[in-house]
Amino acid sequence: MNILILPGDGIGPEIVSQATRVLEKFKTEGLSIQLTHGHLGGAAYDVHGHPYPEATQKLARAADAILLGCVGGPKYDTLPRAMRPEQGLLGIRKDLSLFANLRPAMLYPELAASSSLKPEIVAGLDIMIIRELTGDIYFGQPRGRRTNAAGETEGFDTMHYATSEIERIARVGFETAMKRNKRLCSVDKANVLDTSILWREVVTAMSAQYPEVALSHMYVDNAAMQLVRAPKQFDVIVTGNIFGDILSDEASMLAGSIGMLPSASLDANQKGLYEPIHGSAPDIAGQNKANPIATVLSLAMMMRYTFGRTDLADRIESGVRSVLKAGLRTGDIAMAGEPIIGTSVMGDALVAAI
Ligand code: NAD
Repeated sequence: MNILILPGDGIGPEIVSQATRVLEKFKTEGLSIQLTHGHLGGAAYDVHGHPYPEATQKLARAADAILLGCVGGPKYDTLPRAMRPEQGLLGIRKDLSLFANLRPAMLYPELAASSSLKPEIVAGLDIMIIRELTGDIYFGQPRGRRTNAAGETEGFDTMHYATSEIERIARVGFETAMKRNKRLCSVDKANVLDTSILWREVVTAMSAQYPEVALSHMYVDNAAMQLVRAPKQFDVIVTGNIFGDILSDEASMLAGSIGMLPSASLDANQKGLYEPIHGSAPDIAGQNKANPIATVLSLAMMMRYTFGRTDLADRIESGVRSVLKAGLRTGDIAMAGEPIIGTSVMGDALVAAI
């Protein structure tokens, strides 16, 4: 396993070092793991003058999988857009053709009370959101500013999807549904957008290849509502880049804390970038307060999706469950009055439990 470690910015180094301890533990058990280390985001800008420098590109292309912490921070907010940490993230996704973003939203029973929804609505929640990551309005050209006929400045962006882009993400959706409860909901805005009409046609056509999967379609505004009204109706959701960006953040809040949720971004050959869904949390960076669980669970996804080691993924996930069962809580998942532990003590407990 050739794994590139990119700690990134803010709390990134703190949480990634706890996940790296899990890999070191696997190494002592005889697993062949090679770790390389690099920079992405603000940390890369500081060292190399670019958020996704050539040195990192080389390492990323050579790796089988990448573990990323998170990028960004106020220190970099005034840089020109091309040099901002987030551009590093967009750059690596594009460079490695990581078009499929898998985001599970799961609620551990022990944390049911920390969700902002009633426990009976969310207890046992287990959704997988699949978001297309390299197309749509975030990358569409032309974009920019222009002066309109009335002499006013206007901003504009372009939403588009080619059939092949829709097909490859839809396939990930159907394949994932086949491994789960065989229900796939495709989310679009086909009542308004031409891009979405094509999206719906292509997804519907592909369903003939997956007769066992129950396919449904939902408009994005309804999906946003259904996610808070009755989220357990969903098994797998597949959607485009901008809708997925918003819905997956919404779904993350059902699960209690942003500090609990991992993600995977995969190419067509299961090479992947694995990272927690949260940002660099500048408000708690360097204070040993961050929850490392989302990062450790990202490692579980890496074992499952890139390396096909379901056994190791299961071990990591059941280690997390037992730590939660034992009542160990970082600040973000603690209820009022519960004792709070720091990042490194949580890391100790996770390594021991795994
Ligand atoms: P954030 O996710 O960093 O933080 C939101 C809130 O959640 C904060 O109160 C933070 O303390 C808390 N939080 C986040 N992760 C936590 C953890 N592991 N444990 C405990 N608490 C945690 O979002 P933000 O404040 O909007 O953004 C901060 C920076 O992160 C910005 O520069 C933003 O651009 C960047 N960002 C990066 C990514 C990424 O790297 N993928 C994603 C989102 C935001």
